[in-house]
This record gives sequence, structure tokens and C-alpha cells, in this order.
Amino acid sequence: MNGGWGIVVRDSLLDTRNVTQHRSLLELIRAGDWVHDLKRTAGLAEEIPLGSTRLAAPIPHPPGDMIALGLNYRPHAGETGFTLPSRPILFAKANTSLIGHEEPIVVDPTVTQQVDWEVELVIVIGRGGRDIRAGNALEHVFGYTIANDVSARDLQFADGGQWYRGKSLDGFCPMGPWIVTIDEIPDPADLTLELRVNGVIKQQDSTSQLVFTIPEIIESVSAARTLRPGDLILTGTPGGVGFARKPPEFLLAGDVVDASIQGIGTLRNQVKARTGAATPEV
Ligand code: MG
Repeated sequence: MNGGWGIVVRDSLLDTRNVTQHRSLLELIRAGDWVHDLKRTAGLAEEIPLGSTRLAAPIPHPPGDMIALGLNYRPHAGETGFTLPSRPILFAKANTSLIGHEEPIVVDPTVTQQVDWEVELVIVIGRGGRDIRAGNALEHVFGYTIANDVSARDLQFADGGQWYRGKSLDGFCPMGPWIVTIDEIPDPADLTLELRVNGVIKQQDSTSQLVFTIPEIIESVSAARTLRPGDLILTGTPGGVGFARKPPEFLLAGDVVDASIQGIGTLRNQVKARTGAATPEV
């Protein structure tokens, strides 16, 4: 497949390119009638092997930067030495950091020497809005996916308490491998998350340990700003990150990172060192 989007059914991909007017998932979500659209499109699309195509980030061009939560799992707050927050701690991660499943995390060693991992459940907003109440927040969700909130700790902790640079390097937000629509995950409050580096488990927990639940997160964010279709909210990471280990551990070129969430799948990326000349202008 070249461009476009598809529907994953077990080991197959339904190629929607010739049967939908929506050129991207974001267009489908913005059109609003996605339940009907997906059903209709799935009935018409041609089936191709999933392995025959490369998966980009599910929404490679969201309407803005990603919204992310800090310290939203009790064990992670504990390992970092911070106190548990009384309200969601929000920060931004540049959308230019997005990459897809099996794309390399390219690290420039002259920029950062402390690259860390963070598996996170991502909320994909379907219907936008302001002042959304927790009680009906899930009506605003299109689905869920996985992110690795890759973090340059040396930059993050050098920047006076805000994290934009350390969280936003090119390639530092692997996301995918796909979005699972909300009808397939009726209860997002007890999903197992796991992150492995070269096959060794580093993080393992459940979304039941979230300090602020998904409806509470949506209520809190939308009290402050308008949510738009396609907005991506990273809900925080459990314990087991590299910098808090004794001794600290960081990712090196060649490392393979698998981020898995029950009911969604596994997002895999390999770390590579950036070499050679600067990236051409885009
Ligand atoms: Mg994070």
C-alpha cells in the first residue's frame, strides 16, 4: 500500500483506498459517522496480507501537538521521587516526533546521551468538545493506541521544569501499530501494559493503576482547552523507566523496544544512531 489507511482484521489488512472518500483516518474521524463508515468500507475493501505493507503512525498529522500526562501511575510517581499530583499534570509533545511501528528511533548522540522509554495508553479523540463531563467522556473517544513516550532525560531535566524539548526530538514518539476502536475495548480501566528492551521486561502494570482515569483526564483537559477530532492524549507511564533504575539505564543504538498493551498489540521500534549530514529541508 502506498498512502491511505486500512482496517486490520487478524493477519489481513482491508485496503480501503478505492472504496472510501476519506484519504486519511483523520478525515474519517472528522466526518463523524465512523461506525457506519468503517462497516461500509470493510464490506467493500480488498483484503491484502498485513505483512505486505508498512504501517505509518495511525494519525501522522494530528490537529496539534500531543497532550501528555506526567506522573499518572502511583509506582512511577514514587520511583521519580515526586509526590502524587492532586490534579492531572499536562505537558505537550511535538507532533513532529511521531513515527510508526517498526520505524527507527534515530538518536543524535551530540544532542542527547540519555534516551529513556515510557509505554503509554493513548486516547484518540473522536468527537471534540469543551467542558466534557467524565460521565459521558467515553462518547468522545474514537479508540486507543500505544505510544512510547521516548524521553531525552538530560534535556528534560536541564530545561527548568518544562519538558517540551526533552520529549519532542524527531522520532521520539513511536505510535501504533494501529488504533483499536472503542467498541472493542469497552473497559479501558484494566488493561495490562508491558515494555521490553531486547526482550527483557522493564515495565509491567495495569491501567487500573492510573491515578486519573480516562474519563477524568478528558474532563480535566477539556475544562482547559477545546478537544478536536484526532487529538491524541498520552495517559502516562507506569514504573520501571530507565533513569529511575539503580544504576540508571538508557537506550543505545541497536536496542529493540517492544511496547505492548492488552487488546491492542505490540509497537516495535529499534534505536539507531544518526550519522552523516543534516536531514534535507522539508
Ligand atoms: Mg510519559
